[in-house]
Amino acid sequence: MRRVIIIGSGPAGLTAAIYAARANLEPIVVASSVDAGGELMNTTDVENFPGFPEGVMGPELMAGIRAQALRFGAEIIDDDAVGLEVDGIAKRVTLGSRRTIEADSLIFATGSAPRKLGVPGEQELSGRGVSYCATCDGFFFRDRVIAVVGGGDSAMEEAIFLTKFATRVYVIHRRSGLRASKIMQDRAFRNDKIEFIWNSAVREVVGEDAVRGVVLEDTVDGVVRELALDGVFVAVGNDPRTHLVHGKLALTPEGTVFVDGRSSRTSVSGVFAAGDIIDPTYRQAVTAAASGAAAAMDVEHYLASLDETIGILAESQAHEEVLAEEAAESGRTIVHNTDAASWQRDVLDADLPVLVDFWAPWCGPCKAMSPVLDEIAAAHGGRLRVVKVNVDENIEIAMTHQITSVPMMKVFRRGAAESSIVGARSRSALEQELEGYLA
Ligand SMILES: Cc1cc2nc3c(=O)[nH]c(=O)nc-3n(C[C@H](O)[C@H](O)[C@H](O)COP(=O)(O)OP(=O)(O)OC[C@H]3O[C@@H](n4cnc5c(N)ncnc54)[C@H](O)[C@@H]3O)c2cc1C
Repeated sequence: MRRVIIIGSGPAGLTAAIYAARANLEPIVVASSVDAGGELMNTTDVENFPGFPEGVMGPELMAGIRAQALRFGAEIIDDDAVGLEVDGIAKRVTLGSRRTIEADSLIFATGSAPRKLGVPGEQELSGRGVSYCATCDGFFFRDRVIAVVGGGDSAMEEAIFLTKFATRVYVIHRRSGLRASKIMQDRAFRNDKIEFIWNSAVREVVGEDAVRGVVLEDTVDGVVRELALDGVFVAVGNDPRTHLVHGKLALTPEGTVFVDGRSSRTSVSGVFAAGDIIDPTYRQAVTAAASGAAAAMDVEHYLASLDETIGILAESQAHEEVLAEEAAESGRTIVHNTDAASWQRDVLDADLPVLVDFWAPWCGPCKAMSPVLDEIAAAHGGRLRVVKVNVDENIEIAMTHQITSVPMMKVFRRGAAESSIVGARSRSALEQELEGYLA
C-alpha cells in the first residue's frame, strides 16, 4: 500500500513525482512499457522550456526530469497501467505484468496524442518538417513556405500564429468550408499570408531528410498534384488518452478529464489528473509540468486531511468503546439483557447490586414501570445497576429464576438473587424497598 501512484511519465507525471518524492510521499510512477518519457521523446529541439538558453533535445530533457525524480526517491516502473479501480478509499492499478499496486491516491497523467494523417512519409519526416505543434516548432520555419492541414479552430489558430514566421501559409482542407468558428475564419481570411486550398486531401508527405512537399488529391475530381513546401503542420485534432478512465472519471465536452476549477481534483475523491489529459488549450511541456506540480501539492493536502479523518475516526471509535465499557461498569445506563453471555456479564459478574426488571411487551403495568426504572438508574447509577429482561426473549433465564408474573423485579448481588419485588410501584415506593442497596 503506497501513498500515491502516478500513471504517465511525461513532463506532468515526472514533475508530480519530483514534488511528491520531496514531500516524502514515496511515489510510484507507472511510466509505460514503450512510451516512457511522453511526447517530448518524439521531438528534437525544445527551445521554449525555461532554463535551457540554447534549447535542449526532447529526450535529453525528459531523461533529466526522470533522473531528478529518481534522485528524490521516486520509484519508476516501465510498465503500462491496464486496469484501474478508483471507487474505494484505496486506489488499485493493474499493470501489464498483471501485478496490482495500491495507494491512497492516484495522479492520472497519460497526456494526449495529436491525431495523425496516416499517410506515407508522415512518420518518417516527423520532426524534419512534419510537426504537430505550431507553438513548439513555428520558430524553425522563419521565411519558409509551410502548410497547415485541418479546418477547425486550432488549425486556424496555428495558421495565424505561423504567419509570424513563414512567408506563406497554406491551409489544406478536405471540404469546401471550414469547421472553425466564424470569428476564427474571418481572422484567417483577412490574413494576406494565408492561402486556402479547398477540397484537398494530403495523400503523401514527400522529402528525404526534410519535407519537400505534399501530394494532394482533389476530393471532388480526384486530380493529384504535388505542392512544394518546407513544412507541414498537422492540426486535425487531438485525442486525450482517457480509455482507462471511461465511465470512472467525468470528462469534459472536449474529451479531457474534468477537474475542479484550477485544481487537479477529478470527479472521484483521491484521484487527481495533470498535464495534457486535462488541458484542451495550452498543451505545452512547461504547462504540463506546472500542472503535475499542482497535482502533487493537491495530493499532499488530500492525504493530510485523509490522515486527519482516519485519526479522528479511530479516536472517536476508541472513545465510544471506552464509554460503552464505562457505562456497562457504572450501571448508569439501562442494560437490556439479550442472551446468556450478557446475563452472566451484566448480572451475575457485576460488582454492583443489580435490579433486574422482568417484563413483557404485552404487560401494561410493565410499561408503567419502565420510566420509573429509568429514573432509578439515572439517580443511583453509581450504586445500583438496572437490567431489563424481556421474558419472551429470555425464557430460560425467566424460568431459572421462577418468574411467574410480570412485572417482577429481583435484586442480585454477587451472582445470587437476594430479594424480589412483585408488581408495579411508584419511584419513591421502590426507592424505599431498595433502601439497603442505595445507602
Ligand atoms: C511532436 C511534438 C513536439 C512537441 N514539442 C514541444 C516543444 O518544443 N515544447 C513544448 O513545450 N511542448 C512541445 N510539445 C507538447 C508537449 O510534448 C506536451 O504538451 C507534453 O509532453 C504533455 O505532457 P504530459 O505529461 O501531459 O503528457 P505526455 O508527454 O503525452 O506523457 C504522457 C505519458 O503517459 C504515458 N501513458 C499513457 N497511457 C499510459 C498507461 N496506460 N500506462 C502507463 N503510461 C501511460 C504515455 O506513454 C506517456 O509517456 C510537443 C508535442 C509533440 C507531439
